[in-house]
Amino acid sequence: MRFLDLAAGLMLPRQCEICGRDLLQGEETLCMHCVAALPVCHESEADLRASRITRHAPVVRVATWLSYTHDSDVARLIRRGKYNGRPDIFVALGRLLAGRLAADGVLDGIDALIPVPMHWFRRMRRGYNQAELLALAISRASGIPLLRGAVRASRSRRHQAGSNRDARAENARGRFRATRDLRGMHVAVVDDILTTGATVSGVIEALAPQSPRAISVITLAATRYA
Ligand SMILES: [Zn+2]
Repeated sequence: MRFLDLAAGLMLPRQCEICGRDLLQGEETLCMHCVAALPVCHESEADLRASRITRHAPVVRVATWLSYTHDSDVARLIRRGKYNGRPDIFVALGRLLAGRLAADGVLDGIDALIPVPMHWFRRMRRGYNQAELLALAISRASGIPLLRGAVRASRSRRHQAGSNRDARAENARGRFRATRDLRGMHVAVVDDILTTGATVSGVIEALAPQSPRAISVITLAATRYA
């Protein structure tokens, strides 16, 4: 065992986050049985788009991997990753997501990855932005550059849980500010969960005036749209 593997083995949990089984060499955070059993989102791209993604910009592709339902393994993993100081969960899920996207050809032609930003104060409190960890994992696996700071969250938002769709959309509008010329580029906006689409749409609307050639959306998981 190389020193780096040994060091990583000492730092990261060596049990599967879902079933608790000891991880084998090459497994990370989740065992391969639990990875294979993760529920995949089967909604069509048209359904993912419908009413969720803004039409005020040239959005060409919307891709997601997992189906997010309340009180599921996926929900527990994402909550633990966000609120229990476990960035390694997003690093591991990001690598798996990157493999999926590459296999499906979703990354073809994309020039840059733009994570949904977090307001600086929230990011400081959490210590990381999970969307950025996912985008970084995709970037490392694919070689597509990550554009940090291409869009900024300009003010803090009230917590979204429980607020209705209109309130979320209103909250997201004008919250993001793009800072960089994207002329001629096909950029992909990356986030952890696609719910109402208000957050991602807010980012897309902020990016549009920077004249990207095309915009795609990549998320780790999506809720069913009701
Ligand atoms: Zn497992």
